[in-house]
Amino acid sequence: MKNVFVIFFVILAACSSSKGRRDSSSVIITEADIRIVIESIKADFPAAAGTLLEKGVKHAASLWRSKDGSGADFADFVKQNYIPDPVKRKAVFSKISGYFESLSGNFNEITLDLRKTLDLSKGEIDDIDRMFGNYSAGSHVLEDFYSNKIAFAVALNFPYFTLAEKEALGPEWSGEDWAMARLGDIFVSRVPAEIDQAVVAATGNAGMYIAEYNIHMGNLRTEDGRRIFPEGMVLLSHWNLRDELKANYADKSNGGEKQEMIYRVMERIIRQEIPEVVINSPDYEWAPFSNKVTRSHEEVETISEPDTRYSHVISIFKALKALDPYNPEMNSAILRRFSVEMEIAQEEVEAMFKSYLGSPQLIELGKLISERLGRELRPYDIWYDGFKTRSTVAEDFLTSKTSALYPDPESFKKAMPSLLRKLGWPAERANYIADKIVVDPARGSGHAWGAAMKGSVSHLRTRISDDGMDYKGYNIAIHEFGHNVEQTISLYDIENYMMSGVPNTGFTEALAFMFQSRDLMLLDVSEDQGNKERMQTLDRAWSLMEIMGVGMVEMKVWKWLYENTEATPGQLKAQFISSAVEVWNDYFGPVMGVQDSPILAIYSHMIEVPLYLPNYAYGQIIESQIEEYLKGKDFAGETDRMFRQGKLTPQQWMEGAVGKKISPQPVIDALNAALKSPLP
Ligand SMILES: [Zn+2]
Repeated sequence: MKNVFVIFFVILAACSSSKGRRDSSSVIITEADIRIVIESIKADFPAAAGTLLEKGVKHAASLWRSKDGSGADFADFVKQNYIPDPVKRKAVFSKISGYFESLSGNFNEITLDLRKTLDLSKGEIDDIDRMFGNYSAGSHVLEDFYSNKIAFAVALNFPYFTLAEKEALGPEWSGEDWAMARLGDIFVSRVPAEIDQAVVAATGNAGMYIAEYNIHMGNLRTEDGRRIFPEGMVLLSHWNLRDELKANYADKSNGGEKQEMIYRVMERIIRQEIPEVVINSPDYEWAPFSNKVTRSHEEVETISEPDTRYSHVISIFKALKALDPYNPEMNSAILRRFSVEMEIAQEEVEAMFKSYLGSPQLIELGKLISERLGRELRPYDIWYDGFKTRSTVAEDFLTSKTSALYPDPESFKKAMPSLLRKLGWPAERANYIADKIVVDPARGSGHAWGAAMKGSVSHLRTRISDDGMDYKGYNIAIHEFGHNVEQTISLYDIENYMMSGVPNTGFTEALAFMFQSRDLMLLDVSEDQGNKERMQTLDRAWSLMEIMGVGMVEMKVWKWLYENTEATPGQLKAQFISSAVEVWNDYFGPVMGVQDSPILAIYSHMIEVPLYLPNYAYGQIIESQIEEYLKGKDFAGETDRMFRQGKLTPQQWMEGAVGKKISPQPVIDALNAALKSPLP
């Protein structure tokens, strides 16, 4: 269910490298130089907008390096390129906007073309297809735009506004002001290639470390020497360990013993007490409770893993910290992750998480789960998955319908206007949207690839076998169709190109999941909804608690890292454990009835893609809030209205969409209602 977004601008903003040049990476324009230039412009054009001028000159100066010219060259450049007349500035903006649409849109078409053989189920893949398919024609644009000075002209006249400025000024901005601010987001910082490469290397190393962190489950032993997992079972930490733990809820006889053992393994990993020799190795037997290792029934002396897990985080931290000086306004990895990438202040995310995790309904939900399990809760029950429901309609029956209706991509394409009409769009509007989406046969399970300029179409990629579309494929195709509809509205119905899109993936996923949940209705199959919705609410509330908890741990740890920049891996380990236990005792202890568990520190994301976890909970909150709002409303009309807003900040988008800021309250309200009605 992958959704492929247009990443051109992300690439532009992210890989501001200047390959192959030495020593020319530091800022050379001084505060005094900036003052002089500003004063001379003010003297020439007394009417020039003061703050905008200052912002623009400072911003352009922060990107200027010695290879771009001397201080005098900079002053000349500013004098020649600054646009004091607001009418002229608007005219120039509209031109730049058009040029960017052309670049982004055409590069997107090139990428689609070059990847055709890789992505579509057509013909054999040769090496040459991979070579072309993985080539990125647009990847050097940014570098070129510094050389030809386009970047400076843009930065000077359309400067960058921080998140705080966008939040403060945005509500008063016109659509055009917003679009100009979005243009200002493109050239934000200019980082030397070697510093970018150090980040890539550090995260790459951590990724490899995690990719090989397998536990040979068949080699685990109970204290009385029994093997309880199948011979040859190998699980990757932490994802496979967690999934096996979830699967064991169904094993009524031995599930509990297996879950306890997996939990013990996880604790040994977090605390780095795991014997180094048992990681990714089938050669030893390991009893995780006593931590004894044997080989051919002989006990073996071993050493524990030497805090390698945490040394990777330190390497990534140091690499990311080296970026700080190149981001004068966003000078920490925390600020960049939250205020720049997620476009929400870290403090706001933390406050949101705290309010959800502290809600008393979770304690009731914990009691309900304990009753269903018939025992006291254990820390690993944060992964309880007993609220999953199955459809009451047989899948074979559904597949017989979908394969008859959709034998090939063309038949799905033809059906799109009528599907949209069933969802409530008027005929003309349904045709307008459906006309801008094509259906391709996918090699994989499917995805939605948006257009990046008006005049282009978005692609719904779906897998259809020779027997036609099966129900699973149909279900995914409807999800992707939701993405395509969002992609179409948020490109074609947006006035200023620079505002096209949505603030982040949570917003497009919301629409995709709402389409997906209406898949049976779109198939004219009625289903007894029964407890389905209520069970989904309980499931969603419980998993939101879990993913928020791990996000909280990461935020604590990274704040600590910035206060303890010379921390050793051992010190970081201690901090990870104490942060995890602290979050546990504050929020999970009261729900689970167990204290002091470090389990929230097990996530592998924390090691290889630091600070990404808060994104998941943030995205889920956004999705739920939009879904809850739309219940009982005019689905099509409201979808059109919301997604025509374009790429505001997430908070302002949500405010415009539902009249409130981003909040987990709708999830709590739904949980409250679900808890009040008895379960079967
Ligand atoms: Zn999706």
